[in-house]
Amino acid sequence: MTTHITQKVIGIDLGGTNTRAGLVDESGRISKRAQAKTPHAASAGDIVDVVIGLIKNVNDPGAPAKKVGIGAASVIDFQDLRKSMWPNLPGLQGHDFVGEIADKTGLIVTIENDANAAVIGERWQGAAKGTQNAVGITLGTGVGGGIIINGELVRGASGSAGEIGHICVDPNGPLCGCGSTGCLEQYSSATAVVRITKEILASFPESPLHSKLELDAKDVFDAALGGDLAGIKVFEEAGRYLGIACAALVNLLNPEVIVVMGGLAGAWNLMGQSSREELQKRAFQQAVERVNIVRGVLGDDAGILGAAKLTFADMRFSGS
Ligand SMILES: [Zn+2]
Repeated sequence: MTTHITQKVIGIDLGGTNTRAGLVDESGRISKRAQAKTPHAASAGDIVDVVIGLIKNVNDPGAPAKKVGIGAASVIDFQDLRKSMWPNLPGLQGHDFVGEIADKTGLIVTIENDANAAVIGERWQGAAKGTQNAVGITLGTGVGGGIIINGELVRGASGSAGEIGHICVDPNGPLCGCGSTGCLEQYSSATAVVRITKEILASFPESPLHSKLELDAKDVFDAALGGDLAGIKVFEEAGRYLGIACAALVNLLNPEVIVVMGGLAGAWNLMGQSSREELQKRAFQQAVERVNIVRGVLGDDAGILGAAKLTFADMRFSGS
């Protein structure tokens, strides 16, 4: 009898709300999972403790993993990790987060932006499998992005490439957290869906959304599925602006696939048509015919798998 011991690593998706971990083998199978709430407004130490707790939780004591990959809601600066920006986890600002986890666990720790990790995950095991030129867009509380060209993740000069959420889709639009105005994130994120609904609701006196005291994007989604015209219009608008950004991406990068991921991707059926119409209007026909815009298929696993894949590929290390 022969036994083949497959190498396993730990993939972590560190988000502003939840942190998820999985023990991942080379074939992309997740054999053990754990998750925890990301400590809100916490210090770096609290977040480090949660991540280390999850690592211990999923690791296999019999054959412990030696590497951990973290996909994080951060604009990573690979030249100096302390200069990475943490808009949703300000407690980590200025900290050597990766070095601390490496020191305390003895593991080799890799870090990558969460949307970059997610598109790598979808290309490894999901909707972008077999492609060489893929763009991922994560629609959640904010909007993130990741770009793969000729099979390689595009990181740029310091690591912040692919911030698709901050493509300007209307120079006269609302102020964005990044300091610019009219960014995609202000139209096609869960936060934007709530804002736009509140802006237009007065024109829809029949809408059931008037009865909601604390409106969230799920309420708007449910109303739209039930035929509510306000909800339908909001998602059409979100799709339209997403299509404007996609036209820029298609003209610039000529991708084979654009994968729409994140919590709001569940509403893709309500956004897809207006999105494709804008893309048709604005991008080169030959490039439009080449690209598929699809919903991701891995859900919350995309980030875990992508972070794990990066460690298998030895693509970026810090600390050991
Ligand atoms: Zn912005």
